[in-house]
Amino acid sequence: MIWNRQYECMEREELRKIQGERLSAMVSRVWNTVPFYRQRLQELGIEPGDIRSMDDLPKLPFTTKQDLRDNYPFGLFTVPQEGIVRLHASSGTTGKPTVVGYTKNDIAMWSEVVARSLTMAGVTQSDIIQVAYGYGLFTGGLGLHYGAETVGASVIPISGGNTKKQLQLMEDFGSTVLACTPSYAAFLGEAIIEEKIQKENIKLKAGIFGAEPWTEGMRTEIERLLGIKAYDIYGLSEIIGPGVSMECRCQTGMHIFEDHFIPEIINPDTGEVLPYGELGELVFTPATKEAMPLIRYRTRDLTRLHAERCQCGRTLVRMEKCVGRTDDMLIIRGVNVFPSQVEAVLLEMSETRPHYLLTVERRHNLDSLEIQVEVDESFFSDEVKELEGLRNKIQSAIGSMLGISSTVRLVEPGTIERSMGKAKRVIDNRTR
Ligand SMILES: [Zn+2]
Repeated sequence: MIWNRQYECMEREELRKIQGERLSAMVSRVWNTVPFYRQRLQELGIEPGDIRSMDDLPKLPFTTKQDLRDNYPFGLFTVPQEGIVRLHASSGTTGKPTVVGYTKNDIAMWSEVVARSLTMAGVTQSDIIQVAYGYGLFTGGLGLHYGAETVGASVIPISGGNTKKQLQLMEDFGSTVLACTPSYAAFLGEAIIEEKIQKENIKLKAGIFGAEPWTEGMRTEIERLLGIKAYDIYGLSEIIGPGVSMECRCQTGMHIFEDHFIPEIINPDTGEVLPYGELGELVFTPATKEAMPLIRYRTRDLTRLHAERCQCGRTLVRMEKCVGRTDDMLIIRGVNVFPSQVEAVLLEMSETRPHYLLTVERRHNLDSLEIQVEVDESFFSDEVKELEGLRNKIQSAIGSMLGISSTVRLVEPGTIERSMGKAKRVIDNRTR
């Protein structure tokens, strides 16, 4: 099933034409209503009439999270307060939150893209969807909620937490779809086993998981625990919330709803636009947003785009799972390296734990990378020969993943320091 065949399966040339029209109209709109954008365009000598098609997109300036903070709270809105029907905000780890506003039409568009997303996962009006994302300033709960109602499914707006109640309603109401963060899905899966709930009492068939990075290893684990097919959904509040892109049944990347959110991949250092297939920073221009359209918003997420037609029939580009954030990127001997790439290799191997530490040194102007890897308890033996074989195997797998050589050092389980918050994965001893 495809929710909106007209836009999801449109010929790419036609789509590009529509994107150009929407872009051009949006630039005129912000020129007339947002002093911040008018000034920025004027500084570059750009007038609205200069932006006529998608070919003109690279001429436009970028927008960053800092720009949103500098215009806190409503400085980037294009409509007066009377036109705003919803406000969401994401808590910044430092300083002020990032605020986003929606008009009635924005909420309708958001509901539409989430309806498209849910349909990709096979959700219909016959389904009962348990929305265990947080409801509130965070866009997860309400985003999924409106989309599910648009599809016509029965929504259980339970929000996050309260695991006992989650399991009780899951059994009693016969929830068929679960929407939450992947880590909470895994937690619920383990709780079902602990509570000794009969498998046949759980009617779940699909899960829609996002709002935090997760690996293929995690997908397999959730699918096993809950007996479902697990789908990846992507979004960020600056662009709309969940429903910027979503995996179809083929699960070969997430289709971006490009008629609303125009994607680009850029070199994060130079800002140059990169061709399909190349790794870089994901940039979005949400051209149809009324309350707060943004020009070339830098997400800081790193991924690749693919434009070949998908087996599902959709022509929309697909984005790979993000490999990391530009903030996490290391440049070693001129090559971009992400800790998540190392993690992906380790998750493929049964002999190791996903606990690791990258140490980068520079000696005589040459960078060296050492990776400490914890070996699983069951495999850790005194057999030097076996461990040496394992070390070589990991070293070569990481080498082909990263494209540079490294030194792998195996350590006993529990050696690498655990953190309650964000795990420390990198020590960079180079002085720049
Ligand atoms: Zn597809």
